[in-house]
Amino acid sequence: MRREIVAGNWKMNTTPAQGVELLKSVAAVKGEAKSSVELIVCPPFTHLCSVIDAAKGTGIAVGAQNCADEAKGAYTGEVSAEMLASMGVEYVILGHSERREYYGETSEKLVKKMKLVYDNGMVPIYCIGEKLEEREAGKEEAICRAQIEEVVFSLSESQFEKLVIAYEPVWAIGTGKTATAEQAQDIQHFIRKVLAEKFGTLAEKTPILYGGSCKPSNAGEIFGKKDVDGGLIGGAALVAEDFIGIAKAF
Ligand code: PEP
Repeated sequence: MRREIVAGNWKMNTTPAQGVELLKSVAAVKGEAKSSVELIVCPPFTHLCSVIDAAKGTGIAVGAQNCADEAKGAYTGEVSAEMLASMGVEYVILGHSERREYYGETSEKLVKKMKLVYDNGMVPIYCIGEKLEEREAGKEEAICRAQIEEVVFSLSESQFEKLVIAYEPVWAIGTGKTATAEQAQDIQHFIRKVLAEKFGTLAEKTPILYGGSCKPSNAGEIFGKKDVDGGLIGGAALVAEDFIGIAKAF
């Protein structure tokens, strides 16, 4: 039995006050989902303190959407893993396709970020996934394999045991185009197989989330697949009822 997780990536949306309201709205309807489903929200850096405060006692964990690839020092505009951990952040999304595409996030940087996240007692939610042209060229397995080998294979077993993976086909993010449940299962089964090449049976326990235009109406079918352990949710995480509607799909 693997963990069941629904994580919300708020991206660059909401003001701090709206973020606290959203958290409270999610907390108010959380009881509609099975208590075994773990909920995580990932607001922008600016809201972390107030959202963490508001989340106390709700059972909702708070994550960040990124962190710096250096520990501290003259890196204007960056936010370190230590700063996040000191605020009570538990998870950090790493390798989101928007960061890979718009901010030049390379595997080399992601290896450094992962180490810092673990060193500060937090857990990475590591995103992988292929672009449309890569899927059309039949390269989705090769892309996911490379994104795993270049970053996840640098982890120790005890780090790997905590890792959460999110498979997010880039062509499905924010496009309204969802992978079919079968497509999600096929590639997530493949991802688990690649993880097992390095980490053996530990890979059986790794939560692998699906992300990409997930909503209450399609979550049930996708989460029903053997190798799908929940979702990383973008747009639908900004509406409490939709976010919980997705969590109810388990
Ligand atoms: C995401 O960006 O992680 C995501 C899954 O977005 P959306 O649900 O909006 O496609």
